[in-house]
Amino acid sequence: MAKILVVGGSLGGLFVANILLRQGHDITLLEKATGSLDGRGAGIVTHDALAQALKAAGVTVDHTLGVLVSQRVTLGRDGNNLGEMELPQVLTSWSRLYHMLKESFPAERYLQGKAVKSLTQNANSVRVQCEDGSQYEAELLIASDGIRSGVRAQVAPEVQPEYAGYIAWRGVCDEACLSQHTLDTLFNHFGFCLPDGEQMLGYPVAGSGNDTRPGKRRYNFVWYRPASQDKELISLLTDDDGRYYPTGIPPLKVSWKHIAHMRQVAHEILAPQYAEILEKTAAPFLQAIYDVRSEQIVFDRVALMGDAAFVGRPHVGMGVTKAGDEAMVIAKYIAQLGATPQALQAYSDERLKLGQQVVARAQYLGRYMQAQGSKGTRDTDNLKRNASTVMAETAIDISDLLAQGKAVPESAH
Ligand SMILES: Cc1cc2nc3c(=O)[nH]c(=O)nc-3n(C[C@H](O)[C@H](O)[C@H](O)COP(=O)(O)OP(=O)(O)OC[C@H]3O[C@@H](n4cnc5c(N)ncnc54)[C@H](O)[C@@H]3O)c2cc1C
Repeated sequence: MAKILVVGGSLGGLFVANILLRQGHDITLLEKATGSLDGRGAGIVTHDALAQALKAAGVTVDHTLGVLVSQRVTLGRDGNNLGEMELPQVLTSWSRLYHMLKESFPAERYLQGKAVKSLTQNANSVRVQCEDGSQYEAELLIASDGIRSGVRAQVAPEVQPEYAGYIAWRGVCDEACLSQHTLDTLFNHFGFCLPDGEQMLGYPVAGSGNDTRPGKRRYNFVWYRPASQDKELISLLTDDDGRYYPTGIPPLKVSWKHIAHMRQVAHEILAPQYAEILEKTAAPFLQAIYDVRSEQIVFDRVALMGDAAFVGRPHVGMGVTKAGDEAMVIAKYIAQLGATPQALQAYSDERLKLGQQVVARAQYLGRYMQAQGSKGTRDTDNLKRNASTVMAETAIDISDLLAQGKAVPESAH
């Protein structure tokens, strides 16, 4: 049994902490936030690998995981169907996964208000100091502390999030509010709408209390819109009192003026079904889209995983699945090689290039989305062709492509 520290108590940290705990290790998880992380996430696309990681983490995976959707559809500006595609997928939510993973992990090992601020290591151990003055020591440290990882800042300060040039409006709308037309033509689908240079997508998720019964569900949407870094992004990340949040504006702080403008544009350029959803979503929020690409994810007794290691833009729909995969690989090598730097190096050998591929694929999917605008065409045939490509490529299981090193098609290089 080894002493292992996990930094970050979101989904990635909970995956690795749960899996290693079940291997018999002495795990302490350090999480910066003091309150519940719940209530801030929205929809998550699941893949087979996610179910495997959940099972390894001790979570029971059954039909209550999420909402099964069998078809994708793209709607035109007029609301008509531009194309559809069969693709069964289970859609869940960040909160659902968080609760399942958190309930599997002993509360006394999940320490909150522990913001790691520095670390040192020697031949036998790694030691961290938290902002509250407390210190922890262990044989290994696994950092899953997110896009602005404090641990990464210590070991690889040169790696910084790079703004992709666009933001995502997000939110969930209660099914019960929606018109019959929107329910009939969109609600049960993984839906898309592709205005020039932008992309709207959405899918149904469970409602309050994880209720998946018809009438009780919600529609989760993500609307990607370009925003210049120097002007528009700063304005979007500034609240109604003039306070600027450079690393992300809390959902309830998003300015009502931006929300009103976003809804107005939705009526002008999106299918009416989506405009209705945006109109009826109580608290839309927004996130800037970033890339994080690491060249090194293991530093002797310290490993980076999850968003601390790589952030692929959400078009791949893989943030959580990737974290689950990485957690399983770390645990596999610790089981084989012990809690040693060699085990972490084996993890890096297996996952570094895959993580880089995920980032590259996400950039490719984002570029493609933006390229639509530059074509400057509203030709229906062209839109149809783009619709099929977007539906076929977004948030699909790419494990085979990753294994073959083909996450980005050769034509896109
Ligand atoms: C509130 C929230 C909502 C999300 N919603 C979605 C979603 O709807 N869809 C989606 O695809 N992805 C979502 N994500 C991202 C998704 O959860 C991640 O891609 C996935 O969980 C893997 O990220 P992670 O666990 O490595 O990092 P994150 O989820 O970013 O978590 C990092 C954790 O580390 C903690 N932390 C940061 N710095 C320190 C420090 N110095 N010391 C200690 N702890 C620290 C943070 O408080 C946070 O809990 C969300 C993330 C969060 C935090």
